[in-house]
Amino acid sequence: MVFNSFAPQICFQEVPDEVSLAFTITGCPLRCQGCHSQDTWDPETGIQLNNDNFQHYLTRYQGLVSCVLFFGGEWNPAALLDKLSLAKKHGLKTCLYTGKTKVSQHLIAQLDYLKTGAWRPNQGGLEKEKTNQRFIELATGNLLNFKFREHHHAIS
Ligand code: SF4
Repeated sequence: MVFNSFAPQICFQEVPDEVSLAFTITGCPLRCQGCHSQDTWDPETGIQLNNDNFQHYLTRYQGLVSCVLFFGGEWNPAALLDKLSLAKKHGLKTCLYTGKTKVSQHLIAQLDYLKTGAWRPNQGGLEKEKTNQRFIELATGNLLNFKFREHHHAIS
């Protein structure tokens, strides 16, 4: 199962205490006002991320990352589930950033972390006290938003 992605990036802050290999999946249908990623809205943008080239990335970054992070992709659940279970087979943790407020139990079963909530310019991102977004560690149900605020304070 296939969807399109930009080339993956290594991220240090998007998942607390993990080094993440992050894939931005194109084709987000939510069209939030003020979205900073409107260049990703077109599902034809980017390169096809199939199971083979995804495995190739996992092998290339083996030992360098602890987690695989998807920015979106829940609109193609079969393709996303394939990738999450491959990441788990490689011993990696998994995280999904979604603009929705919840995702299916099938996806939850393959995820360690989940960030929910659309971008609302007047409420801000995870580092803001008044944000509508939630970053959850699924094994414990703990809300980890405080880790983003700590980091923000540390660098500002
Ligand atoms: S969910 Fe994220 S990528 Fe999608 S439109 Fe909203 S802010 Fe943009």
